[in-house]
Amino acid sequence: MEKGKPRYYLGIEGDQPFILCYSCNQKSFHPEDIKQRYCVTCHKFHDKDPAVLKLWTIYRHPSDHRGKYVARLWLLDKPTDIIYIEDTLDEIRKTIPPGLVCMPRDESDDPVIVETWL
Ligand SMILES: [Zn+2]
Repeated sequence: MEKGKPRYYLGIEGDQPFILCYSCNQKSFHPEDIKQRYCVTCHKFHDKDPAVLKLWTIYRHPSDHRGKYVARLWLLDKPTDIIYIEDTLDEIRKTIPPGLVCMPRDESDDPVIVETWL
């Protein structure tokens, strides 16, 4: 296998994020597959170590940063101390590394959560 060649593609169709496997050309819209970079057809994870999956969560006016937008880096399900703080949603989105896919908030998410990038 060619080194450094991507084995999957993250995209958006309509407003639905998906993951496309380059090995079998199978598309999946399942949030867990996208989160874990998993292909159900190949039965494998694309990333070598899915346990260190990084994601960014954007918060609107959280109690510790009133009136601000905050982007916090998570390692899988653990929050880190790495955060960006900006005044607007547009500005905070610019701090998110390129190549990530935006997942809209879930009904069950905390009200201060705007969206998650992974
Ligand atoms: Zn596959």
